[in-house]
Amino acid sequence: MSQPFPDESLNVNLQGVDRDGFEALSDMSSSSRPTVLIIEDDAATRRFIADNLSADGYEPLEADSAGSGRRILAGDRPALAILDLGLPDRDGLELLAELRDRDRGHGELDPHLPVLVVSGRGTELDRIRGLARGADDYLPKPFGYGELRERVAALLRRSKMRGLAGRIRVGELELDAMAREVWVEGREVYLAKKEFALLRALAAAPTRVFAREQLLRDVWGFRSPGRTRTLDSHASRLRRKLSTPRSAFVVNVWGVGYRLIDGEVED
Ligand code: CA
Repeated sequence: MSQPFPDESLNVNLQGVDRDGFEALSDMSSSSRPTVLIIEDDAATRRFIADNLSADGYEPLEADSAGSGRRILAGDRPALAILDLGLPDRDGLELLAELRDRDRGHGELDPHLPVLVVSGRGTELDRIRGLARGADDYLPKPFGYGELRERVAALLRRSKMRGLAGRIRVGELELDAMAREVWVEGREVYLAKKEFALLRALAAAPTRVFAREQLLRDVWGFRSPGRTRTLDSHASRLRRKLSTPRSAFVVNVWGVGYRLIDGEVED
């Protein structure tokens, strides 16, 4: 998956950003009981995992088929999924492929959801196949609960760190740099690649005015000035997409450039 910015620049931006009334979201860490979906058709195994996770402070959700697992993934947005592969209706690897594919998920599924495959298919080739399809970790059956618990904890730790690094909020606007997703007042807004890159650049410091030349260089890689119509047309599309009756986000500072603020349009 290609990302418009390296992680390092994002971390630098976020450090500078806290003082400006920006906040990195920590909603994944605020829940005291992370929900873990267990997709497993064997009732005894499923109950064994659910009871133990529950005793360890997790909130288990249970699905006995790929179909019901998919419904719970879309409806309950768990923090992590434990996925069996041999399921009655559909192979677990197929569900995993659908989950990882943004277009097939139609925005209902979180493509970044941590997935731990727990399967009786335990050969090296099976494990490679599972990891290649997008599993974050692979635990062959039979397994001990202690190992499963530690793997779950490690995956959640990692995804929490990624969530903290990747999410930015400016007033009612929320941006997930890793997933390339944007919401305004909780509604997802679909942006073209360069529109998103422009928003990302502006969101690095929402009150700061960015010079046109700098934006052209950072977002488009143009070294020579004079392509400002490209910038202006993207900026006005971006403003249109982000605006609501209550707020407008991309502000043109005449003769200078653009900035992103949560407030009234000034021009
Ligand atoms: Ca099974």
